[in-house]
Amino acid sequence: MTELKRVLVTGASVAGPAAAFWLARAGYDVTVVEQAPELRPGGQNIDIRASGRDVLRLMDLEDAVKDRNTGEIGTRFYGEDGTVVSEFAVQDGDGHEGPTAELEILRGALAQILVDACPSEVTWKFGVSVVAVDGQADGVTVDLSDGSTERFDLLVVAEGVGSHTRALVFGDEPREKPLGMYISYATIPRTADDDQWWNWLIVPGARQAGLRPDDEGTTRAMLNFRTDTPVLERLRGAELVEALRREFADLGWQVPRILDALADSDDLYVDWSRQVIAPTWHRGRVCLLGDAAWCVTSLGGGGTSLAITGAYVLAAYLTQHEDHADAFAAYEDWMRPIVEDAQDLPPGVPRIATPTSRAGAELLKWGTRLAALPAVQTVASKLTSGPTADRELPTFSPRP
Ligand SMILES: Cc1cc2nc3c(=O)[nH]c(=O)nc-3n(C[C@H](O)[C@H](O)[C@H](O)COP(=O)(O)OP(=O)(O)OC[C@H]3O[C@@H](n4cnc5c(N)ncnc54)[C@H](O)[C@@H]3O)c2cc1C
Repeated sequence: MTELKRVLVTGASVAGPAAAFWLARAGYDVTVVEQAPELRPGGQNIDIRASGRDVLRLMDLEDAVKDRNTGEIGTRFYGEDGTVVSEFAVQDGDGHEGPTAELEILRGALAQILVDACPSEVTWKFGVSVVAVDGQADGVTVDLSDGSTERFDLLVVAEGVGSHTRALVFGDEPREKPLGMYISYATIPRTADDDQWWNWLIVPGARQAGLRPDDEGTTRAMLNFRTDTPVLERLRGAELVEALRREFADLGWQVPRILDALADSDDLYVDWSRQVIAPTWHRGRVCLLGDAAWCVTSLGGGGTSLAITGAYVLAAYLTQHEDHADAFAAYEDWMRPIVEDAQDLPPGVPRIATPTSRAGAELLKWGTRLAALPAVQTVASKLTSGPTADRELPTFSPRP
């Protein structure tokens, strides 16, 4: 019997486990390393749309994801005085949905579903990361942080936006393009007044705040603000909470409650939003996948759907091509147009969505009122339709 080809996947969030699922099915001997000591449970509501949903169906996981739906029934915009400005109820169907999709799930729940769906032969190593990579024509030798050195046929890097292994292999060629915005999420206690809407506050001062329901009996809070410099990068724990307090101190609505709860939240996640612009996603036997390759950020939307789609497309082409280089090239060729489309933000984003002045906030309110009109919703929903390719997904045809 010929030996199975070995592939190392780095990162166990969305792209990594999805890749492990398909690569194991394609007949590879798959090892996944994740730097966190265990599967990271955190993360807020993410949506799966369009081609991401098609791939979920192929994985037979659509029902599992529906079972973990966050229960969100739509998106409501509020003014600071607590009045509802406009609302978008979730629309059934594939693709052309509103800000709230039909498939909404917590990121941690999705990661768990993907890991559980992987064949038992996949090897998982938590608390381990890549220290050094030496690529040769016939394999790639990897030093791991547990002191071991292993040789693989392929290395798939799915480490998210700030990928260290990407830097080891590609240097500073992949560029990080900051969007001038901090996104922060935290889980906070649910109160009797919390409903099933994504409640979103429109205020001046280049800020956003929001509350979303989940299916775990808690509430997911969001505090975002625009800034030209990454002012929070060095801050951790109490200092980080204090900085967010200062930034949002003057706001009413639900904001004081969110700020009070931050100190006790065990999953505060703060991200300096930046896209990854990489001229190529593969070098030798190493291939980038998901946010590590093309982070679109939550401003562009669709990052999770792209990660799931990319994992399938990569594995499908590896089943079609004898030579990994041809498969990598075909994968990149298929994915690039939908990635570039997602990274091409509408003019004025994120500025328009985080107005500086009171007049800008009023204008945004009117914009959402107009967009909530049924006739305009059809057009507006195109902005939230998720990655839609103009060609069929490639066929996954593992060799017997
Ligand atoms: C904890 C967490 C919370 C998130 N919350 C949200 C959210 O609320 N809303 C939203 O829109 N998006 C969120 N995201 C991002 C979202 O998951 C991604 O945009 C999208 O799903 C693409 O996923 P990905 O697997 O490519 O990257 P990511 O989800 O970023 O996952 C990358 C994984 O690689 C691991 N990793 C990083 N470096 C290494 C290394 N050197 N070696 C091994 N492993 C490594 C990370 O720990 C992580 O598990 C979150 C990501 C994480 C990790």
